[in-house]
Amino acid sequence: MIFSKLFQFCPVCGSNDFVVNNEKSMRCEACDFIYYVNASAATAAFIQNENGDLLACRRAKEPAKGTLDLPGGFVDNDETAEKAIVREIKEELNGEVEKLEYLFSLPNLYEYCGLTVPTLDMFFACRLKSTKNLKASDDVEALEFIPLNKLQPNDFGLKSIRKGVEIFLEKSKL
Ligand SMILES: [Zn+2]
Repeated sequence: MIFSKLFQFCPVCGSNDFVVNNEKSMRCEACDFIYYVNASAATAAFIQNENGDLLACRRAKEPAKGTLDLPGGFVDNDETAEKAIVREIKEELNGEVEKLEYLFSLPNLYEYCGLTVPTLDMFFACRLKSTKNLKASDDVEALEFIPLNKLQPNDFGLKSIRKGVEIFLEKSKL
């Protein structure tokens, strides 16, 4: 559901005279507060082993539970995207990032508790100190390294991640 259908009260003054301002914002008629719905920053990592196979995670939680995903997650307040992806790789895989490179970004819509949250997913190529002994935890159920010629973007459940994997595959063929 989009925010303007779910949000009924002004978060500043509590008035229920909280109306759609435009497609990006809502306005409070009582106190003139304007609430802008900006994209939440998120990260995703392409990690390859010594054979060039890509690391994919099986999602343990909704949305898209049970489908493949890339390691990553939301950027915390007051955190850089670079720090966020290093932290997520530690939390989700117990992996140590040795080198990272920003690649590109894609917008996405993320379903969370019945609310459609716009995100901006930033993709990084990450080299780990070791790709052995990685361990799935947090919101990851299982890990697998997939040879690029067996990689199926449609197995990735989140739209921006699927598109990101397609771009990654195209680039890796060049
Ligand atoms: Zn208000």
